[in-house]
Amino acid sequence: MEQIIIIGGGASGLVAAIYAKRKNNQVIILEKNNKCGKKLLLTGNGRCNFWNQDQSLENYNSTNKNNLRDIITEKNQKEILSFFDKIGIVPKVKDGYYYPNSNQASSISNALLLQVESLGIKIKYNSEVEKIDRLDNKFIITTLTDEIISCDKVVLATGSKACPKTGSDGKGYELAKNFNHTIIDVVPSLVQLRGNGSYFKLWNGVRCDAKISLFENNCKIKEEYGELQLTDYGISGIPTFNISGLVARGINNNKKEIVKIDFLPFINKNEQEFITYCDNKSKFILNLKIYQFLEGMLNYKLVETILKVAKIDKQKRWQDLTISEKKRLYYNLKSFEFLITGTNSFDKAQVCSGGVSLLEINPKTMESKLIKNLYIVGELLDVDGICGGYNLSFAWISGMLAGKEISKND
Ligand SMILES: Cc1cc2nc3c(=O)[nH]c(=O)nc-3n(C[C@H](O)[C@H](O)[C@H](O)COP(=O)(O)OP(=O)(O)OC[C@H]3O[C@@H](n4cnc5c(N)ncnc54)[C@H](O)[C@@H]3O)c2cc1C
Repeated sequence: MEQIIIIGGGASGLVAAIYAKRKNNQVIILEKNNKCGKKLLLTGNGRCNFWNQDQSLENYNSTNKNNLRDIITEKNQKEILSFFDKIGIVPKVKDGYYYPNSNQASSISNALLLQVESLGIKIKYNSEVEKIDRLDNKFIITTLTDEIISCDKVVLATGSKACPKTGSDGKGYELAKNFNHTIIDVVPSLVQLRGNGSYFKLWNGVRCDAKISLFENNCKIKEEYGELQLTDYGISGIPTFNISGLVARGINNNKKEIVKIDFLPFINKNEQEFITYCDNKSKFILNLKIYQFLEGMLNYKLVETILKVAKIDKQKRWQDLTISEKKRLYYNLKSFEFLITGTNSFDKAQVCSGGVSLLEINPKTMESKLIKNLYIVGELLDVDGICGGYNLSFAWISGMLAGKEISKND
């Protein structure tokens, strides 16, 4: 009877195990924690944004993005959605974002674990894989507790090194490297950005809708819009997360990363038009000081910050500002410049950018092109997505492809 070992009982590993199981094979999941799917339970703030309707490749990052085309196919998308339907998940879809209707990530992990159990897949908890050797046509797996298990096929589903408290601490990269796989530099992604502005204390805690533009070595490379969170170390929130992988990679390559923030994206005016707009507005509110004038548009803490950075006396009225002060104000409201010094660490990151090179993986089966019968799935690979359910989408599909192939060969 063929023995299949899945290393890691997270999103991709559980799906791989379910698809791999057939009557005449034995599938065992080795999970280092005392339960499976710890990270899954944290997803989507506990609600699990498990899929996104818009699966276009712009939502994904990879050094070899073309190879993703054969993984995120329409057929695979349909199949995985039908899988969730079959295991009993009723989705709630909001603007294309899929959540379980229960609003509980545990619905997803419980449904997967029930399948695992009903198919007779064994889970060995507290089994951290330390080493995998190849001997003849077999794999010999050694755990941290010195248990030795021999098997015919292995699925590496250990995740990345983001949020290591959930179990994914980067060990998978080492295991893959020992089989001569190339690891594309791993950096934190979907993570907060840091700077060293003296004004951070002033804006700490503000949330506002803004447009942010990322400039790398003075060239604009990305624009995002959404709710920005201003913190005592820099910026956070979904638009920040969505540019963070690019920033981390750029900083790794010694590039200068600057974010320009438009705090008034709904006011689509150039400098002169904006000044005229404020001139007209101020006629009705002649006696307002500039900070009071601006508080009609923005959070008061942000107003304090912007006036301080623009070096404008908050007690002045709009009509008393010099033309150069008006220009400085426009610039800081519409194009506030923020030099990024780094990202928060892997501890705070939701995912990693980088990982095992897709060039060394058969995209139809997720089998390693270097080692027969070794499969690599999920976030361990050099694929990551923006916020919106893409990282789980990739984990499910890659796990499914590996599992299907394994059961086919059985
Ligand atoms: C706070 C947070 C929120 C998120 N929200 C979303 C969201 O809403 N939507 C979305 O699409 N994505 C989200 N993500 C990302 C998503 O959770 C991951 O991309 C996904 O879980 C990756 O699946 P995986 O199977 O590759 O790895 P994981 O889910 O991390 O699973 C890896 C498993 O392998 C085990 N393991 C590791 N090393 C070993 C070893 N040596 N031996 C044995 N076992 C091992 C780990 O304990 C773990 O159980 C979020 C991530 C975080 C941290």
